[in-house]
Order: sequence, then structure tokens, then C-alpha cells
Amino acid sequence: MNHSTFAELNLSDAVLRSLSDMGFEEPTPIQEQCIPYIMNNRDLVGQAQTGTGKTAAFGIPLVEKVDTNNKQTQAIIQCPTRELAIQVTGELMKIGQHTGGLNVVPVYGGQPIKRQIKSIKRGAQIIVGTPGRTIDHLKRGTIKLDGLQMVVFDEADEMLNMGFRDDMEKILSYSNGAVQTVMFSATVPKSIRKIMNRYMNNPQTVTIERESIAAPNIDQYVVEVRDSVRTEAICRFMDLNEYELALVFCNTKRQTEKLTRKLKTRGYASDFINGDLNQNQRDRVMDKFRNGHIDMLVATDVAARGIDVDDIDVVFNYDVPQDPEYYVHRIGRTGRYGRSGTAITFTAGRKNKQLRYIERNNKIKLEKLSMPTNDEIAEFRMEGHLNDVIETLEKGGLRPYIEQIEAAADGRFTPVEIAAAFLKHQVDGNSNENDFVQNGASNGQSNGKMIQLHFNVGHQQKIGPGHLVGAITGETGISGKLIGDIEIKQNHTIVEIPGKEANKVISVMHKNRVKGNRVAVKAV
Ligand code: ADP
Ligand code: MG
Repeated sequence: MNHSTFAELNLSDAVLRSLSDMGFEEPTPIQEQCIPYIMNNRDLVGQAQTGTGKTAAFGIPLVEKVDTNNKQTQAIIQCPTRELAIQVTGELMKIGQHTGGLNVVPVYGGQPIKRQIKSIKRGAQIIVGTPGRTIDHLKRGTIKLDGLQMVVFDEADEMLNMGFRDDMEKILSYSNGAVQTVMFSATVPKSIRKIMNRYMNNPQTVTIERESIAAPNIDQYVVEVRDSVRTEAICRFMDLNEYELALVFCNTKRQTEKLTRKLKTRGYASDFINGDLNQNQRDRVMDKFRNGHIDMLVATDVAARGIDVDDIDVVFNYDVPQDPEYYVHRIGRTGRYGRSGTAITFTAGRKNKQLRYIERNNKIKLEKLSMPTNDEIAEFRMEGHLNDVIETLEKGGLRPYIEQIEAAADGRFTPVEIAAAFLKHQVDGNSNENDFVQNGASNGQSNGKMIQLHFNVGHQQKIGPGHLVGAITGETGISGKLIGDIEIKQNHTIVEIPGKEANKVISVMHKNRVKGNRVAVKAV
């Protein structure tokens, strides 16, 4: 396909300037194909995977078409979640930043309706909302439809999944079929086709084939391990690859919470996002993820819909997705816009069948990968140290050190032996940094032994794993990753600590405080 430029799409200078400010150099395929139809008032259904630029595909023509001399509401956009509504509003404002007189107003639940009514009264040509609150405004007559030209449903499939079907139909019947209706969706299930037939006028469909976007820049792997080993596997992949931002998908809300607890216990800055969180809580978690305060975000499929973070290094499927489309959505969170990304799916036993179904359906073949062994991680660390050493060598200025070494060698050791001793010391001598050796031990795998310590506090004192990890790491300075299983009982807790650290932990923690309780600590 020959690619067109934004200029070739006959856009105004104002919008072209905005796109250039936004760093959009050329249209994505879905934009290239949809913009002309929408400009020409066609009803349209645009289907493309997550991350392909669907917002601007409707946002650009929308901003172009709005009559800024007219203060009436000319377009209503519907999104499944408040977070998406806010994102879409932001993107439209950016596209319209040089278009004088344009007003975009978001309306969603949880915000005082009075404030929204005021903003709408001031003249909102474009309203972006969630269905509940939009219908509320329509019923109150605070959104007036006399000037309405276009209705857009973004993430239409997700709106249906979330049970907004009646609301969508209500909005469509309010808008009376006379206006241009546009839908964007990652998938077009039957339920969407029904709505198209019923409410849309000879809709144009634009489908960007998955093959052309199933991002060749995402490496997709499958790892077959027992369920109980998945958390450990995630940690090892994180360490081995030095991933900075990871998204981990679970199938259930409960699982997101459980897994997050386990990751935190191992010292990984993580948090979860699921449908049980209210919007404020979700916003707070997303901010932490965006700002890098957490490295791992554990999410359910639905909650992840609003996630708009571009530099996710890796997506882990802790659970095999329930639906082939979910798989595509999940992995589409990484490898965005030319960056490379990795997707790792864990499977075992019966789940293989579901995974093969996903592969067939999506015309993909996942590459087998095994869980990194402790030795591999050790080797990786070793290589890291060696690279540092070589860098130091290249920088020079070693004279005084060479003299020290020569003196220390004293004819008894060769320089190579001394270098080897330094490396060994680096890799496993300093336990603070080299938790990987002991880490595996918590799973009874190899290397250093774990010792169980008895703390005389438990459920009775309302102790959670976080209190113990926090107290131990805070007081002793050892890394949370070193702490193994934590088993909380009614009146005591057993904490696994690497043998090497046990004395330190006992001496520092005995008679110290955990969540305000003076504790007694002893080896079991
Ligand atoms: P979708 O709705 O298809 O999941 P988005 O509209 O959220 O995708 O776009 C994904 C990301 O790509 C956003 O950060 C957006 O700003 C960016 N983007 C969209 N179009 C372009 C473009 N033409 N050039 C560069 N970046 C783009
Ligand atoms: Mg979108």
C-alpha cells in the first residue's frame, strides 16, 4: 500500500500543525483509511487492534468538521470507562489545540453534574462521555441535540461486554438515526453487526487485518510451568532481561490481588488494577505506573482497557486468556509504535488446549521458552560484572590499583586468580546484591539454604506479609527479594530468610518492633 501523508488527507493547517506538535508524522493505516470516509459524512465501523491510533482516526475528522462558530453540541463520543473518556478528551484537545473556539467537554459519573452542566452551557461542540452520565444529561435536557451531527462509539465491543447495550441503543435512538454514526472497535462481534444493521446507514467498514499489525516487533513466547512456579518465573524473567515496565494479566480480580501480594513480598514494586477499584484508586495506580513508581502492574482484561502507557517492555499472561481476542489486546500493550516488545504466556496441562485454540484463531505460533534457571541468572549477573570491569579497564587510571594487587599477590597468586576471586566476591559474596542465588532456594531449588525464623506475632496482631517485609528490609537493609515464604498463623509467623542473613535478622529484629509490637525472633 502506498502511504499517504496527513497533508494528502486535505486537513486544515491548524490540525496539521497540531499533529506535527504531537509528533505524528504520518497516518496509521486505520487513520489513513477512515479519515476520508468520516470527512465525507459516511457512517463507518473501523476495526483495528489496540494501539493502532483509532482515537485520532475519528478525532481528526471530528475536529475538522466541527463548526467552531456554532456553540451547539455537534458530536457525542461514548467510551466504556471514565479513564478512556478522559484520554479521548485529552487527545481531541491536542488535535484541536490550534483550532480556535473549539470546546471539548468530558462527562462521566463521579464528577459533580453541576460542574458539567456549566461547562456544557458555555458551549461544548464535542462531548465525550460514559453512557450512564451522558444519558443522565440527555434526560435532563442539559445536552441538547438540535445541532448534533455525529455520534461515535469508541471501544464498541468493550461497551457491549460491559453491558452498555441498552444505553448504546438509547443514545442512538435519541440521535434519531439522522446523524452520522461511527464506531471503533478491536473486534466486530455479532452484537455489533446487529446494531449496525439497525441503526446505521449503509455503513462503510474498514478492517485493518491483524496480520498486517500483529506487530512483528513483539516476540511472543510460551512457557510451560506448573501454576505454582509462575510467580518465581516472572521474577526471574524480570531479573534476567532487566525489564523496567511489565504488565501482568490475570483472568480474575482475586488473582490480581493475590499475585500482587506475592510480587510485593519478593520486593518487586507492583500494584494491581481491577474492576473492584473505584476511579480514584485506579487513577492513583495508573499514575504510579506511568511515573515509574511501580514496575509491574497486574490487571484484569477489562480494567486494562484504559491503560495508555507506551513503553511497556513485557506483557506476562499469568493466566491463559479466556478469549483469542483478549490475547491480542493484552500483547498489544507492548511493542507500540515501532518499539520492540515481548509477550510471555504461562501455560500448563489442560490450559494448553485453550492456548492452541488462541494460536489457531490468531494465526500465530508462540515460541517455546523455558524458565530461566538460577545458573543462567548467575551467569547473566556475571556477564554484567565483567562488562563493568571491561568498561573500567577501557577508562584507564588503574596504576595505583595494579600496585596494590601486585603487593597483595606477593608471588603466591596469579593476576587471573585474583581477578577471579574479585568476580566471585561480586557475584555471590555480597548477599545484598545477589539475592538470586538464595532466591531459588525458597523453592527448594539449589544453592544457599533458607532458614525459618519464628516471629511471635500473627493474625491476632493483624500482621500482614507487608508489615514483616517492611520491618525486616527497613531495619536490616536486606533486600525484600531475599525474603522467602511468609506463613502467618494466629499468634506467630514463620518467615524464610537466607541462612547467611539469619543472624543479622535475628539480632536486629529480636526485641525490635513490627507494626508497633515488640517481637521475639528465633530460628525454628
Ligand atoms: P487505539 O485506540 O487504537 O488503541 P490510540 O488511539 O490510543 O490507539 O493510539 C495509541 C498511541 O499511538 C497513542 O499514544 C497515540 O497518541 C499514538 N498515535 C496515534 N496515531 C499516531 C500517528 N499517526 N503517529 C504517531 N503516533 C500515533
Ligand atoms: Mg482506543
